[in-house]
Amino acid sequence: MKISAFAAVLCLATSSVQAQTTLEAFKLGGDRAFLPVLFTQIKNDAARASMPLPRATTIGARVGAGGTAFLDEAGVPQGVTEIAGPIGLSMSAGLRYQPSPEELAKIEKAFQRFSTLVWNETWGDMYVKEVLILKAPATGYITLDRLPQKEGGYAYFNGPFVVSTNLLNLMDPETGIRILAAGMLHEFNHSMFLLPDEYPYEGEPDLPVKMCVMDPRSRVTGLCPHCQGLILDRFKKFLFPAGIDPKDWAARNPAPATSFIR
Ligand SMILES: [Zn+2]
Ligand SMILES: [Zn+2]
Repeated sequence: MKISAFAAVLCLATSSVQAQTTLEAFKLGGDRAFLPVLFTQIKNDAARASMPLPRATTIGARVGAGGTAFLDEAGVPQGVTEIAGPIGLSMSAGLRYQPSPEELAKIEKAFQRFSTLVWNETWGDMYVKEVLILKAPATGYITLDRLPQKEGGYAYFNGPFVVSTNLLNLMDPETGIRILAAGMLHEFNHSMFLLPDEYPYEGEPDLPVKMCVMDPRSRVTGLCPHCQGLILDRFKKFLFPAGIDPKDWAARNPAPATSFIR
């Protein structure tokens, strides 16, 4: 993400009393491994923001009826903040290389987990409805690539983002899938919700750790109240229920399944 955009979002930030959630339910043990490594990689966001990615000139009028938002290499449609939840996201996933069938199966599992994380962090206001897998070499709303070591991904506010499938190989296969999903969530939060990074970039003064996926030092996959407030300020029709145990809520409201178009 660009530093200038980072500052702009900080100016927009206001507190919200609607976001009365705790993050405990989303502290998922398997994701803890995601951290020290991805932290280093996310530090590269600022440097990578200058890299060109394709951007469409018009991204309006791409929001379909029935609460579906279509996301392609142009990024987030302008009207998406006006849809009441639940918004089912229909997104393209471009592969920069051709993964093996086994790796593609892991990538699809990571998408389903990513959808659950989105669903949980928005209290059922948004999920991944379908993923159009574009054969390599291709660019999508999400582009999957084997980035150089120490780079987990990078994103643009309102724009497309790239996540490294090398995250799959950091730990055992099951944990790798969760790490890739957490990496997708972090970059998606930049793109869709304009959430800033909450850790200090290299050379900047140290900051206290925030219990938030936007600060990977925390190793949690939930959002801090500040980030929830940013979402509610931007998506006025979203409803984050107060006073409900997130564990109960997640058990009674499972995320809809994600389908894949290959
Ligand atoms: Zn970031
Ligand atoms: Zn946060």
